[in-house]
Amino acid sequence: MFLERSAIFWCVQFAIYFGSVTHGNPIASSRYNFDDEWDSNIISNKEPLLTTASREHKLPPQSHRQGKDVIDLRERLLNVEELNVTNDKIGNSVNKIIPCSVCTLGTNLLQTAVRKGESFEAIKLQFVAICVGFEIQNHDVCTGIFDIFGPEVLAVLNVTEKNPKEICTLLQSEACEEDPSLPPPWTIELSEARNELEEPEGRPLQLGKPTLKILQISDSHLDLEYVEGSNANCDEPLCCRATSTLKKKNGVIMPAGRWGAFNCDSPRILVDNMLENIAKDHPDIDYIMWTGDLPPHDIWLQTKNDSLMVLKESVAQVQRIFPNTVILPALGNHEGIPAGNFPPPWNKDQAHSMDWLYNEVNKHWKTWLPESEENSILQGGFYSVLIRPGFRVISLNTNYCNIFSWWLLLNNTDPAKELDWLVNQLEQAENNDEKVHIIGHIPPGSSDCMKTWSHNFNEIVNRYQNVIKAQFYGHTHSDEFQLFYDPNNSSRPNNVAYVAPSVTPFSGYNPAYRIYHVDGEHPDSTWEVIDHETWIMDLDKANSNLNENPEWFKLYSAREAFDMPNLRPLEWHKLIYRMVQEPKLFEAFYKFFHRDSPVSKHMTNKEKLYILCDLKSGRSQTRRAICRDLEIMIHD
Ligand SMILES: [Zn+2]
Ligand SMILES: [Zn+2]
Repeated sequence: MFLERSAIFWCVQFAIYFGSVTHGNPIASSRYNFDDEWDSNIISNKEPLLTTASREHKLPPQSHRQGKDVIDLRERLLNVEELNVTNDKIGNSVNKIIPCSVCTLGTNLLQTAVRKGESFEAIKLQFVAICVGFEIQNHDVCTGIFDIFGPEVLAVLNVTEKNPKEICTLLQSEACEEDPSLPPPWTIELSEARNELEEPEGRPLQLGKPTLKILQISDSHLDLEYVEGSNANCDEPLCCRATSTLKKKNGVIMPAGRWGAFNCDSPRILVDNMLENIAKDHPDIDYIMWTGDLPPHDIWLQTKNDSLMVLKESVAQVQRIFPNTVILPALGNHEGIPAGNFPPPWNKDQAHSMDWLYNEVNKHWKTWLPESEENSILQGGFYSVLIRPGFRVISLNTNYCNIFSWWLLLNNTDPAKELDWLVNQLEQAENNDEKVHIIGHIPPGSSDCMKTWSHNFNEIVNRYQNVIKAQFYGHTHSDEFQLFYDPNNSSRPNNVAYVAPSVTPFSGYNPAYRIYHVDGEHPDSTWEVIDHETWIMDLDKANSNLNENPEWFKLYSAREAFDMPNLRPLEWHKLIYRMVQEPKLFEAFYKFFHRDSPVSKHMTNKEKLYILCDLKSGRSQTRRAICRDLEIMIHD
């Protein structure tokens, strides 16, 4: 989210500016041995988590008509419009980036400051003075951010051997104009493809066969300190708490509603109400994908104990309503402390180890997962489970590609050996004729995901595109998707990531969850997603009708709303170009993106381009290349 990104960014810039922390006792870089002895070669489990093929389901709604073929249209539009666009415009409007020069300047200043050897408290004083002086945040937030982020960020910056340009290029390689033809610094070994690639069009959907009905809950951001009636229009990054201040600029108090507010995270009552309504409206769910970000956005206050408290409370909420349902969790960036920080296992220093989180999640997750998965969960918070014979779910910890995971600045080579393990699991799945769904939190194409990790992940998806039938993430809080493409053919999408809407209204969204209908167990099963639905609560309406229980209702189903014959990657690819051509179709998509929130605003062409570019960006930090055609088609 923007507030969060902004706060973290300024924290780092100031930390970079003022530099060294370990006065008199600098941490030596030779202290870290990056070898990881963990054996990633784990035999995948063979006992299905679901004991029956599927429950009784109603069939998903049918599309009214066949989707249009718009591939020719893309070519035609390009030929006509290209003449009107100058070359130097290309790539400038598909990125929202912080200039590389700002980053590099700060990092250069760091090298001077490090030599000064100033103390943590001295740097903090200067940081807070500038943070408050430039009205970036108030005194308490500035102090809190330094106290929480400083020990990790400054320790890393003190020992990294990378130069300023290298650090900034790791954080945002496109902004720093890294040569895109450079070979990646590390690669994951892949076997040769053994099977013919499936045709992008595929067979017609096999409607009328058994289906799985799957729930995805993402980004609940439960705020245990939410206070109804407190100020929802504050100066801190997160409002609706007893301590929320009055906004200096307009001084208008907006009382926090009973069910939530658009500048705030979820009150407990909102999450409880959603879960109760899901249980009522969907008693036939086969399993739940729970894709992380449980704690609130109070990143300037958050401690490890706070994160664990929210984890326990959230697990208790879900277990109370769904005591007998299989739940497949994934870790969000906000579970880390400071937010986003997931030091790889080579960091054995207890002050920076992730044991505090992995030990705790393992205790809770073992309720739903087989004992065999404890090994990889304790290693890095990821696992692989067989759901039914021939169908597997792999849960990734995509926080190991997060640019805000500071220890990756020291070494980002396949953190926790997660991708190595993933390839091993996919190879076994291919050998065993299994189809796979991948779940995680940060979508691998997000600009928050480091380029090399993302590019390796894309190579893996391309190699195992016949095995991986769908991917499911959260993190953006928007209702959207991301496409993956054949590295050698930019017109051939080979996979789709469903990016689910957030439960939290933060910031500017109606609370939501997703339901997926998946081709279920039968002799020709593909395990592909046949349709998905987004269900929401109208937050303003709920807060203004306090005598009635809030209504949760289906906002749309994808096949019907977008008039798609199926949800295969090619149809999603076509949808992007249909939205270029049909403004009303984009308007519908944008309405769903915010879940019809009153906070959503009119889109400029530049903002529309940015959103559509996101949909094509399953590979991070390559927006200029991936979205060049869109940029030519859409311009002011
Ligand atoms: Zn989130
Ligand atoms: Zn997130």
